[in-house]
Amino acid sequence: MGRLARRWARLLPACAAALLLMGCAQLEDAAEEVGRAAVEEVSKELLGTLQGRAPGESGEEQGNPGQHAESSGMDDETEAQGVQERAVSGILEIHFLDVGQGDCILVKNGEHAMLIDAGNNGDGDQICGYLREQGVFKLDYCIGTHPHADHIGAMDDVIRNMEVGELILPDKIHTTKTFEDVLDAAEEKGLGIMTAAVGDTYACGEASFVILGPVEDYGDDLNNWSVGIRLSYGGTAAVFAGDAESAAEADMCGTGLALDADLWKAGHHGSSTSNSPQILDAVSPSYAVICCGEGNSYGHPHAETLEEFRERGIQVFRTDEQGTVVAYSDGEEFSFSCEPSTTWAPGTASGGEES
Ligand SMILES: [Zn+2]
Repeated sequence: MGRLARRWARLLPACAAALLLMGCAQLEDAAEEVGRAAVEEVSKELLGTLQGRAPGESGEEQGNPGQHAESSGMDDETEAQGVQERAVSGILEIHFLDVGQGDCILVKNGEHAMLIDAGNNGDGDQICGYLREQGVFKLDYCIGTHPHADHIGAMDDVIRNMEVGELILPDKIHTTKTFEDVLDAAEEKGLGIMTAAVGDTYACGEASFVILGPVEDYGDDLNNWSVGIRLSYGGTAAVFAGDAESAAEADMCGTGLALDADLWKAGHHGSSTSNSPQILDAVSPSYAVICCGEGNSYGHPHAETLEEFRERGIQVFRTDEQGTVVAYSDGEEFSFSCEPSTTWAPGTASGGEES
């Protein structure tokens, strides 16, 4: 029996009870009036409610329905279909860890947490230590945006030292030892791999995120394979797109998915090959956080990117100058652990290979 069939089988008694309560006759009348499509919509909403998801969120693509339902606590706050904003009661924390030239972002909401990337190969102790300090021993999700070593370097250590619900990766294999280490760690822990699929929605406590990319097959251009997500919490949102460059950013803009957000994780460590005017128009952020290493060999962040941010009035935070940066959302607005950077100083080195 397929996954979907099993889910239906499990839910049928609950559906039947709920339909009885609603009154089947009433539902049949409604069907005559508005047609089968509308009834299907009602059923979908009901299913969504029973599974703890908001109406309109697709469930079929999700790999582990039990966990998604368990992770979501939004039933009571669920609003009308199409309205994504939900009331929240706690604080969403987004920690941009200072791992030098690399990305590692901890998202935390109450007892729920997820990690976007895990720095370089030597960062395992630092990252796991930081997570423990934060009281995080279980990650609902680990997202490895793309197979470069400055993003998945210590993901194997994280998988071995933490309880991980789901590992989300782009549908792109890579032949490096770093990448194979991640697969080995996942296998050791019996952790399945979820392929990022555009439009899939996941819940993490009172927050939720939708997959924005990768949209296309980008061949061997690993940066463009980056998993992009839009994380929303109450009326606030943040967009993360790994190292996706302008072509992949343009594709994300073409999906029709909402991109507007308060916070933009600067693409590709602030490189001018990412952070295109098109994506910045679509996201229209108030804040940008640049994850990069002091004196990195790529000259990140690039002057063009900083100029683009400055012209748009975007407040900039950067891990090379400020160390680990934490953003807090109460569902209405973001605040930060430090004041924005005002140096507008680009990286000085150049000539390194982009990663
Ligand atoms: Zn990178």
